[in-house]
Amino acid sequence: AKFIVGLTGGIGSGKTTVANLFADKGITLVDADIVARQVVEPQSPGLQQIKQHFGEHICNTDGSLNRAVLRNIIFADDKELQWLNNLLHPLIRQTMLQQVAQATSAYVIMVVPLLFENGLDRLVNKTLVVDVAPEIQISRTSQRDNVPDSQVEQIITSQISRKDRLAKADDVIDNQGDLADLTVSVDALHNQYLKLAQQTL
Ligand code: ATP
Repeated sequence: AKFIVGLTGGIGSGKTTVANLFADKGITLVDADIVARQVVEPQSPGLQQIKQHFGEHICNTDGSLNRAVLRNIIFADDKELQWLNNLLHPLIRQTMLQQVAQATSAYVIMVVPLLFENGLDRLVNKTLVVDVAPEIQISRTSQRDNVPDSQVEQIITSQISRKDRLAKADDVIDNQGDLADLTVSVDALHNQYLKLAQQTL
């Protein structure tokens, strides 16, 4: 079995930035957001089931999922939201584990924004939380996405609290410094994970 590190953190904490530093070291990333799109690609079994359930109008003319239509349906009907989650969550989970199994790096980083919220921490050997204060989450995200602070604040509120996330973390990266500081932290963790992965073989 592969050694899996679950990387998470609140919106704008720096998950992607940290993940890319691990990728630079040759570590394979399995990204929940990417997998969530792959399982509903045109022709995929996931999209076939969605079409069977909601009808052909759930697809665009090019065969891709019409996310706006789907969003409207599940926003208005909790049963349909549940149906969709019951379909997608196991599919996403399975596909992530398949990608882990195919990886050839010493260990694998699973990047999962809602790792704790969705109980995916049960799939990993270690959880790694990228941590910054909410003020930094807000300033970095609003700059990056050109959105108002209030929108970022709303998303922060919808996620697990900073305190609870930190309490669940095996490892924490403080990303309140600059990118040079971050590189130093990632280097140290990478060496730890290499050792742990070897012991786990
Ligand atoms: P999301 O949850 O929205 O996907 P994320 O956790 O993946 O976000 P990133 O996109 O990696 O976060 O980082 C948020 C923004 O902050 C980006 O514009 C990134 O370049 C910037 N950033 C990340 N770390 C630092 C840092 N140490 N110093 C300055 N800027 C940073």
